[in-house]
Amino acid sequence: MENTSNFIKTIIEEDLKTGKHKEIVTRFPPEPNGFLHIGHARAIITDFESALPYGGYTNLRYDDTNPEKEDDIYVKAILADIRWLGYEPKNVFYASNYFEEMYERAVLLIKKGLAYVDHSTAEEIAKDRGNLQNPGKPSKYRDRSVDENLRLFEDMRLGKFKEGECVLRAKIDMTSPNMNMRDPVLYRISFAEHHNTGTKWCIYPMYDYAHPLEDAIEGITHSLCSLEFEDHRPLYDWVVRETEMPKIPRQIEFGRLSIENTVMSKRFLRALVEEGKVTGWDDPRMPTLSGMRRRGYTPEAIRKFVLSTGLSKVNSTVGTDMLEAAVRDDLQEHAGRVMAVIRPLKVTITNYKEGKLEYFEVPYHPEKPELGSRKVPFGRHLYIEADDFIEVKPNNKYKRLSLGDEVRLFHAYFIKANEVKKDENGNIIEVLATYDLETRSGSGFDARKPNGTIHYVEATQGAKATINFFGPMIIGDDSMDLMSRFNENSWTVLYGYVEAALKDAKAHSKFQFMRQGYFNTDPSTKDAHLVFNEIVPLKSSYK
Ligand code: ATP
Ligand code: MG
Repeated sequence: MENTSNFIKTIIEEDLKTGKHKEIVTRFPPEPNGFLHIGHARAIITDFESALPYGGYTNLRYDDTNPEKEDDIYVKAILADIRWLGYEPKNVFYASNYFEEMYERAVLLIKKGLAYVDHSTAEEIAKDRGNLQNPGKPSKYRDRSVDENLRLFEDMRLGKFKEGECVLRAKIDMTSPNMNMRDPVLYRISFAEHHNTGTKWCIYPMYDYAHPLEDAIEGITHSLCSLEFEDHRPLYDWVVRETEMPKIPRQIEFGRLSIENTVMSKRFLRALVEEGKVTGWDDPRMPTLSGMRRRGYTPEAIRKFVLSTGLSKVNSTVGTDMLEAAVRDDLQEHAGRVMAVIRPLKVTITNYKEGKLEYFEVPYHPEKPELGSRKVPFGRHLYIEADDFIEVKPNNKYKRLSLGDEVRLFHAYFIKANEVKKDENGNIIEVLATYDLETRSGSGFDARKPNGTIHYVEATQGAKATINFFGPMIIGDDSMDLMSRFNENSWTVLYGYVEAALKDAKAHSKFQFMRQGYFNTDPSTKDAHLVFNEIVPLKSSYK
């Protein structure tokens, strides 16, 4: 749990102190029309962390008032993602469960002369709303009688009108400087099938009407939402007041979180999925929580990142380096360190006996004995990283293997490269080397200093692995159309070798591949087929 202060907590603490509230209740209200992304994580963390430390609770409420775009797949994925982040909603509710009450409250508004059925077209309504410079014009249906409105609204519910033929509007103020108060639409007609209520309803409440009622019905004390709803607050308060809800929630806005070169619009993410640009909502390049999970991000890292960005009244944009630093910090503590060769080059130890193997017992983490240890094999046939070898050492700063020089293999021996084999194109395909028995790791040998230390995988025991690398999914700048900014080269697949201990790696186990980066075992890993995703390289690539 997080205990730093922020402006929302200050309000909450004051409300508890003055006795305005005895219990704090918040909600996270996603629209089930897509998977959650890292921006939603800010909202989730803010909602839960504003209630839990005070002994209060948070509801998950699906804001399912828009039947055209919603689906049960999203309903399930959303709850799974919230739980993965480490939070358990007290209740799981659906806005659609309140349709009857919302309808009744709308009838009350009509009876109070505060709502009317408008037969204007959508274009007429938009035009008559005016703009910031000019007041709106009242609709010619604005002065319909209460009785007529009651009858027409019921007819709307009974399906007697076509989609778009009429709407129910609040009667507030067509001259208000706040455009949201110029007789906003409360209900529209849609014959789309609803994921929860089926075809029971053909009128659906608009967000600005539904949301305050949902909050009030659930007894939400503090309704936390992102900044774009600030101008909607007067309408929020109007709806709660005029529908005479007994419990009065308070809306408080906070800044949205954006990450550089990361697009979080659900519409865009859905388009990527539907057009097959990515492998799904959980594609490791996606900024969705399911994508980040598959990539290997941990919930702890995401929470730490979101909390480190601070909560304020203004929208903020942070660099991807902050997100990467958070996951590196977390994995540096918890990921076992192992050896993997990503671009393999064969090395044969010519003075080591064919068929012989020996094993070095190596802890997974130098400072964390609780992570255990494993046996690392060594033998005549090895792989090293192709770019850890060069025939002729360019200068003394070069701390890897070259002809005539000696390097240490992590946890094993010093080896010296003596000869190379090349293919017909002159590419190096094998290095012939010798080892020195005396230099065995742990023997205390210090007579010579090796020219660096490199990693390796013993070839007969190591396992072949598919290793995925990811670049930014979005490139270019804001002036370009989003789809054209999709980086077609953002997924690179390499085939390497990992040490024997990783043969049974379970989905989502995370490792540091020494000298390279942090990697997640992809859930597609099965039996002999190992797949790893690079989460982040060891060092930041941002300069
Ligand atoms: P998108 O713009 O990606 O489609 P949305 O806001 O329409 O997202 P909702 O399902 O309505 O998606 O979001 C649920 C809650 O999450 C809302 O209260 C919204 O304010 C909040 N939220 C969404 N994105 C962010 C963000 N980047 N930063 C903070 N809060 C966010
Ligand atoms: Mg929304």
